Amino acid sequence: MPLFDTYNREIRDLRISLTDRCNFRCFYCLPNGEPPLARKETILTFEEIEYLSEIFVSLGIEKIRLTGGEPLLRKDLPALVSQLANLKPALKDLALTTNGFDFPRQAAELKVAGLDRVTISLDSLKRENFLDITGIDALDKVFAAIESARSIGFDPIKINAVIVRGRNDDEVVDFARFARENDVSFRFIEFMPLDSGHEWNREMVVGGREIHDAINEVFPLKLKDNSRGSETAWRYEFADGSPGEIGIIAPVTEMFCGACSRIRLTADGHIRTCLFSTTEYNLRDHLRSGATRSQVVEFIADAVLKKEPRHYINDSKFVQPSRTMSFIGG
Ligand code: SAM
Ligand code: SF4
Repeated sequence: MPLFDTYNREIRDLRISLTDRCNFRCFYCLPNGEPPLARKETILTFEEIEYLSEIFVSLGIEKIRLTGGEPLLRKDLPALVSQLANLKPALKDLALTTNGFDFPRQAAELKVAGLDRVTISLDSLKRENFLDITGIDALDKVFAAIESARSIGFDPIKINAVIVRGRNDDEVVDFARFARENDVSFRFIEFMPLDSGHEWNREMVVGGREIHDAINEVFPLKLKDNSRGSETAWRYEFADGSPGEIGIIAPVTEMFCGACSRIRLTADGHIRTCLFSTTEYNLRDHLRSGATRSQVVEFIADAVLKKEPRHYINDSKFVQPSRTMSFIGG
């Protein structure tokens, strides 16, 4: 029984925020640390995540991405990954997004447990600027994470950078060079209004087109697919055949809601049908109140039916959601 919303979009992609806690303080996400909601009993247990994931996969979810906050802060993450990997082959893709800080220590175990892919965030190639953006002097740790992902055999390795005017937009071409030299898929993400510091404003957004043109001028790019389907990124290869890939994710300037196949489960077990939802569906309390499996299925299907047609970032009445990226799961 696949999940469809009222706009006939099929939902195949689930992002699970494992925790809203983080050891970084990225200014565009969680500059002031965790919000007070982060109490242990509110967060879904691994057993609950496993149970719900099995139901989601039975409803046609093919991709699960574990994210946060920083997912590697959840104790025994490989144990959860190994349980979720049991959902293959119906589950086709099990991925992780991490800041990389603790990745080298856990990478081998995660691979053995069945993790298919990893995305590592890297917002500057300069030590001082990395510290300025993330609040932590850990650029070397992130480089080590990328190296360990490679040596353990994760392929492809994706790197995420949020490009913000005046902070790291001068590094766009260097990021592209890094992608070529290290044979990684480098994904450039527009800054979205989901930061807990509420600093976002339109002038800080560096549009996908501008990012593309800056790279293309130095390293000519070739579009990989004519259509991106339900993928968020436009994907490019280097026209000169160099290794590496460029992905451009432009939710602000080039809305891609019409093909969205995603829903999200927050760290405290609420379904969010859009990053920018102002309504959430408290699946955790439903589950904990003793709902049967079929009641849980019904709850999920009902929530999906309420998925918004699109986001409203560019409308004059746009209201930033109270939940931040760290809680929602980016
Ligand atoms: N802590 C992990 C990390 O940083 O990779 C996983 C969680 S983080 C919320 C997931 C992704 O969301 C990261 O690549 C991060 O750069 C991105 N992100 C966070 N806040 C964002 C914002 N306001 N706009 C765009 N992307 C954002
Ligand atoms: Fe933490 Fe990731 Fe948010 Fe940075 S982007 S504060 S690493 S959750």
